[in-house]
Amino acid sequence: MHNKTAHEIHDDFISGKLSATEIANSFLKRIEKLDTLTQSFVSVLKTEVLEQAKKLDEKKASGKPLGKLAGVPIAIKDNIHIAGQKTACSSKFLENYTAPFDATVTRLIKEADGLIIGKTNLDEFAMGSSTDNSAIQPTHNPWNLKCVPGGSSGGSSAAVAARLCPIALGSDTGGSVRQPASFTGTVGFKPTYGRNSRYGLVAFGSSFDQVGPITNSVQDAALMHEVLGVPCAYDATSIQKAGDTIQFQELKGKKIGVPRTFVNMAKPAILDAFEKSLQTFKNLGAEIIDIELPVLRFGVPTYYILSTAEASTNLARFDGIRYGMRSQSAVTLDEIYTKSRSEGFGSEVKQRILLGTYVLSSGFCDAYYKKAQKVRTCFIQGFRETFANCDLVVTPTSPSVAFEHGSIHDPLEMYLHDIYTIPANLAGLPAISIPAGFSTDKLPIGIQLIAPQLGENDLFSAAYAFEQATDYIKIPSPFDKEVS
Ligand code: GLN
Repeated sequence: MHNKTAHEIHDDFISGKLSATEIANSFLKRIEKLDTLTQSFVSVLKTEVLEQAKKLDEKKASGKPLGKLAGVPIAIKDNIHIAGQKTACSSKFLENYTAPFDATVTRLIKEADGLIIGKTNLDEFAMGSSTDNSAIQPTHNPWNLKCVPGGSSGGSSAAVAARLCPIALGSDTGGSVRQPASFTGTVGFKPTYGRNSRYGLVAFGSSFDQVGPITNSVQDAALMHEVLGVPCAYDATSIQKAGDTIQFQELKGKKIGVPRTFVNMAKPAILDAFEKSLQTFKNLGAEIIDIELPVLRFGVPTYYILSTAEASTNLARFDGIRYGMRSQSAVTLDEIYTKSRSEGFGSEVKQRILLGTYVLSSGFCDAYYKKAQKVRTCFIQGFRETFANCDLVVTPTSPSVAFEHGSIHDPLEMYLHDIYTIPANLAGLPAISIPAGFSTDKLPIGIQLIAPQLGENDLFSAAYAFEQATDYIKIPSPFDKEVS
């Protein structure tokens, strides 16, 4: 069962081939057996999911209409609320924090009869590209346990790649759904900014954050888009336009732009796979054109100024009084703030709060924060002009394959791993990472497609056509040998 896509599992449930209880039990068993290897989950909601499955089986038996996700086990990144469950954001600060309400995305999954099976690990407060910044545990890449699964949604990507669940939610501020998907051979989708509600997602960089699914097929990512991409009254930035019904269309006649100079910054193995992918797109009838988008090289510095500025403001609420932990040794009010924050946050989070506070300070605000905002506008304009000449842009998802735990010490080198994913966040564009090959040491490689705002239908169509034309979707779980 585990190698099936969410669509197939859903069909088996609807046709009566499998009950929701059987499906839930099968994945719970697999998690119990294999998650000791990947450490994807921070909690498994065994009692809750079995209860949900039982109710769903009863609902089906009673003949009531069933939702689009009926029978599909779904994991949720631990910075997204599930009412009554912990939302720790893999931080010591929120170790004992219980979510008082469902995030909108959680509510939508429940309403669509999805089975919520557990919560997945992340870099603390979603800051990182490796999941090694988790205060709880490292997560290992199922393709090579010495390597990271990407980040910050590494728990979700490892869980889906190891087939511990067919779908997991991540959040993407600068690439945290797409980069882990590319490191684990899965599909990772970030919608147009404002399409998925941020209500109940713990804020990192509010003008960038979007929830997105990690799946084993493009069709499953499109399914999640149909379920989650709807207006929400609790998010002021929610797009007030009815959700999409995705209809896959042919690629014939579509123009795909390649920002050559930018693409060439990737490692040779990545470029190899990328060139082969271009050929596949050509065979499918797309026209590949070179485009110039020189602003792309400013993505990393722009993002790390703006996202840290927003993070420093968002994380000010963790003060030892309103949320999460309070230092036991604090006596004065000042000590409550300073000691709680110094004991509760890990070093990457502290570094970003410092950087964000610095770029917002009165002496440097014009030089850094305001300038970065202007560069962000150049990204928006640059893409707008680009999309006047082509339908989609394609790049690698990451400049390298998954790296080994602890092998990157320089934070700047780590930040540079986000070079390809950040532009879509800066311009608020939908983007998807899909499997496009393996390196010689058998680590997955992904490519990324970017579409204009609300261009999700074209994005999924191209990704689906590529998936159909290649064999990556048929590759079974990397653990299958151990399991059989
Ligand atoms: N890796 C990026 C960062 O560290 C992206 C994080 C994210 O998308 N949440 O900020």
